[in-house]
Amino acid sequence: MSPAILVSSCLIGEKCAYDGRGRAVSVVKELCERFRCICVCPEMSGGLGCPREVHEIAGGSGEDILDGKARVLSLSGKVRTGHFMRGAKIALEKALQNSISVAILKRHSPSCGKNRIHAGKFDGTLRDGNGVTTALLLRHGIRVFSEDELENAAQALCASPIEK
Ligand code: SF4
Repeated sequence: MSPAILVSSCLIGEKCAYDGRGRAVSVVKELCERFRCICVCPEMSGGLGCPREVHEIAGGSGEDILDGKARVLSLSGKVRTGHFMRGAKIALEKALQNSISVAILKRHSPSCGKNRIHAGKFDGTLRDGNGVTTALLLRHGIRVFSEDELENAAQALCASPIEK
């Protein structure tokens, strides 16, 4: 069986983004035709509806959330850290259940972002760091790529052990 990939649901066009729209990327959809694709939307599975308020990590990154040093806030100031942690744990569970070693997640998201995320100011500025789900997956040895790193993701998938 071909290796499975964990993928942000919005990247294959599911209408789960905060504004009720998808964020389809055609190359991600093509990869999902070649490989077994397990889709996750951590914010939906964490219990936030759709559409929903915009959320950002205040005072840190996803790593800081895992360490209890920052909070996730909605635009109106509601604390949603628990929802984001729940969604991240569900994504990790799915990855482990499916022996996944590679994930392709949506850039800049407070859940799915890789390397750069929104800075917590709700003004479009970015900061270094990962989203909460990305941080949790990385801590468990899963390689995470954004939609800007698809060539690297494809190489990592081709190097993955084939499941029997
Ligand atoms: S970026 Fe992640 S949490 Fe946000 S809509 Fe896409 S899959 Fe859901």
